[in-house]
Amino acid sequence: MGGIEVTGTAQRRSWESTGLPDVERVRPGLWSIPVPLPNNPLRYVLVYLLELRAGVAVIDTGWSTEEAWSTLVAGMAIAGYTAADVRAILITHIHPDHYGLAGRLREASGAWVGLHPADAALIPARYGLGIDGLLANMDALLIDAGVPDETRTELTVASMGIREHVAAAEPDVLFEDRVAVALPGWDLITVHTPGHSPGHVCFLDRKGRVLFSGDHVLPRISPSVAVHVQQPINPLADFLDALRSVRDLDVDEVLPAHEWRFRGLDARVDELLEHHRHRLDETYAAISVAPGLTCWETTLRLRWSRDWSQIVGYMRRAAVGETLAHLVLLETTGRVWRDHSRPVRWYPTTDGSDA
Ligand SMILES: [Zn+2]
Ligand SMILES: [Zn+2]
Repeated sequence: MGGIEVTGTAQRRSWESTGLPDVERVRPGLWSIPVPLPNNPLRYVLVYLLELRAGVAVIDTGWSTEEAWSTLVAGMAIAGYTAADVRAILITHIHPDHYGLAGRLREASGAWVGLHPADAALIPARYGLGIDGLLANMDALLIDAGVPDETRTELTVASMGIREHVAAAEPDVLFEDRVAVALPGWDLITVHTPGHSPGHVCFLDRKGRVLFSGDHVLPRISPSVAVHVQQPINPLADFLDALRSVRDLDVDEVLPAHEWRFRGLDARVDELLEHHRHRLDETYAAISVAPGLTCWETTLRLRWSRDWSQIVGYMRRAAVGETLAHLVLLETTGRVWRDHSRPVRWYPTTDGSDA
């Protein structure tokens, strides 16, 4: 298996020196603008600017903060545009770092906003008046997962602060799977890639032979795929299918929403598939050694990319949701089963290792 080749070498150098990469002209008519995410391990989101015959389109936007806005506007100026020149706002998914500035940017420009219907459906509960229901459901999910009382309240409300970073915009255009995006001069189609978010889409530029991969395929980290009250039952199965669905796309370069540009989509997909195979085995092993663990207890027995004491708040809840996603997939493939107690307890099936 050949590895990936980093093409965004300046981006990676900036990452290594913990700075913000420069605005880059990736190729004629296409720019990348890093927009900062302070106090977040991702550090920045890469907004892509696509020049049209008149005006520009953007893919993703950044958080709705003054700093992000001024950085985005300054980046557009380097490319020779102002916010008023934006004609289309393409959103890969509605996480705040991608969708946050969509509303403000539309106000400044009159551009249309497009995203997938599965993510559009989540907007009222997540960013609107439905938040109380969402919190009650989240609390119930965490009780079932066995999160102790003293931790649960903190995890239930862990995403509330970030909502300030979103100026929500109802979409004007809904992106179904594999449809052409109406951008004059471009041959762009959507690729629905659920898992990280139910309505995540990548954008395939068939003429330029690049994939705008959003958070679906990143060069260094594996995106969080977690059971959540706004996720379908088995998001990891969806995610692995969606990885396979992009693996053999005929592209020369992948333009992700974080980290740096790279070549070798198939190699990176293989690494991510392997990562989850390994993680499924690790999760299964934890249950085999101690049948009857809750999801929370399983989470504490797995290895994480940093010490558990440094995984706090939102990241801790994401970790619980990721473990649950692996347990659910193990259940559907017949390797583990759950009882109906509260909290739910998980057991290996006798022949689970062969499944
Ligand atoms: Zn995301
Ligand atoms: Zn992101």
